[in-house]
Amino acid sequence: MKPSPIHRCAPAPHPGTPCMPGGEYQALFDATDEGFCIIRVLFDAAGEPVDGLFLRANPSFERQSGLRDVIGRHMRALPLAGDEEHWLRVFGSVARSGQAIHMSDRSEPLGRWFDVHAFRIGQAGQALVGVRFSDITHRRRVEERLGSVRRIKTVGVLFWGEHFRLVDANDGFLEMSGYAREEALDLTWQQLTPAEFHAVSRNAVQEVMALGETAPYEKQYIRKDGSRWWGLFAARRIGDEVVEFVLDVTTRKCAEEALRQADRRKDEFLATLAHELRNPLAPIRNGLQILRLTLPREAEAPLRTIGIMDRQLDHLVRLVDDLLDIARIGAGKVRIERDVVSLRDVLARSVEATQAAIDAKRHRLELELPQEECHVEGDLDRLAQVFSNLLSNAAKYTPPGGRIRLELNIREREALVRISDTGIGIPKEQQQRVFELFSQVHDHERHAEGGLGIGLSLVHSLVKLHGGSVTVESDGPGQGSHFCVRLPRVVAPAQAGDAGAEEARPAAGCRILIADDNADAAETLAMLLEIEGHEVATACDGIEAIARVKDFRPDIAFLDIGMPVMGGLEAARQIRGLPAGERVRLVALTGWGQPGDRERTAAAGFDLHLVKPLTASALQEALDRLRGK
Ligand code: ADP
Repeated sequence: MKPSPIHRCAPAPHPGTPCMPGGEYQALFDATDEGFCIIRVLFDAAGEPVDGLFLRANPSFERQSGLRDVIGRHMRALPLAGDEEHWLRVFGSVARSGQAIHMSDRSEPLGRWFDVHAFRIGQAGQALVGVRFSDITHRRRVEERLGSVRRIKTVGVLFWGEHFRLVDANDGFLEMSGYAREEALDLTWQQLTPAEFHAVSRNAVQEVMALGETAPYEKQYIRKDGSRWWGLFAARRIGDEVVEFVLDVTTRKCAEEALRQADRRKDEFLATLAHELRNPLAPIRNGLQILRLTLPREAEAPLRTIGIMDRQLDHLVRLVDDLLDIARIGAGKVRIERDVVSLRDVLARSVEATQAAIDAKRHRLELELPQEECHVEGDLDRLAQVFSNLLSNAAKYTPPGGRIRLELNIREREALVRISDTGIGIPKEQQQRVFELFSQVHDHERHAEGGLGIGLSLVHSLVKLHGGSVTVESDGPGQGSHFCVRLPRVVAPAQAGDAGAEEARPAAGCRILIADDNADAAETLAMLLEIEGHEVATACDGIEAIARVKDFRPDIAFLDIGMPVMGGLEAARQIRGLPAGERVRLVALTGWGQPGDRERTAAAGFDLHLVKPLTASALQEALDRLRGK
């Protein structure tokens, strides 16, 4: 600040005012940063100081004290709000005794801390006191802040000096580590850290030296008594020193470890439980089969009961298998095959596995699958399990008569499978939770079909094992759900330009006729074949089948044997007599598989005899054989 001329020493405004020694001293007086003034202390008859008159003040006086235009004014006339009594006592004693004083004091009215030197000038009778002072409010604040940092118990603060030796530490750290302050001084980080955590500390040291600060780290510290505690620390370089802040997180770390152990025990328990549950299931299944085979056909009620028990047993087996899978994944024991698999095959298998559940609730399943092949690396069974889970959830959590959509989008590097439904939806805030183990969003009392909350967790883990991801979207309750699985694509040999590969693939691109009076059976088989990339036509009896052979000219025809109007055997005989029928590969599809049945179909001109219900692998095998693979 530019000194104001009003503070200049000369000319002396009052009689008896001491003149400052001239020249350099005057310059020093003006230039110093400290406030400086000369006061004449006025005493009463009893020798008590009653007031003080400001005779001189240097330019810094105003900045340091906050008081303006003091020269020639009495202390009592200044806005000192009672503080003048205190200072008059101090200055009076200096004037009387000639003893200089040095003190730090706070002036409440000025709201400042001062560092004050007061000394007598001239003879005792002149009662002149020189006061040199500076505003130390800022320094005091910093000291107070540091003092509270020192006293704080929740955060340990360590000051590292040269060669990373401890030069100071606050009460918090001393309490955490069990050292007295003097004992802690000069310790090194190596002495405070167990050997297995030296690497952590070394990293932090390098980081703070290179970057000036560190990220937070966790490590163990050693107490004076040799016991250990966990700390979360970070450090910062300040000048030549490094300050480290540390929180004692021992309780949290112990709780985490206890949780981990409990989780491990839970996984072990689940694995044992699943094994134990599985053991009795096989004999129950066999027992039911024996009952079915030995009961007379007319024992309707017991046979129906066996059917119900069989279906419930299937459900139980699925739950136990899911439990086992989860336990295995948790223990890192699940191994997946790494084959190049066609997503069409995967999806076909998933649709087949869930078709019954979808049909049972009269849902409409829409498929949007491009003709283009799409391969991923992985495990056909496990991937089929992923999409079966998603499809069966869509069926479960959609009220009867809903719509389920299965779409495959092929991107340059990834395949995107989307399964959407028009079901009960998932509230936004619950959407991330659905992939957690045992999480169930909906109230099972209202949605009786709910399971154990394992399926989506399994989906998540299996997709992850395949290098992919799964996400969910829903606009909320009643708005349906969309699950999207992304899997990295691989370029399969056929796409890599192997000219023979397309031909070697027997399944793609055939014209196939299906004749079956059971519309559901015909439709699901058609769906499976369409997923495989074939063109499919259907007929509901032998007569229609013959007509379709003429106009559709199929490569392969699947004919049900027992159909109304004209059965499969007669239809086959007639088809073989047609010009378009010679080259058709005929497949008998029937519930009867005894040798006599096979002879009859062969005699009627069938190339193959398959027994219902047809599994996806049996179908694939048949197609391979028909194409001579
Ligand atoms: P659950 O055996 O209970 O079906 P999942 O892990 O398969 O277990 O699913 C977890 C929860 O996510 C379910 O309980 C259900 O509340 C919700 N959920 C899963 N799929 C759907 C869906 N398609 N629509 C609505 N909610 C769903």
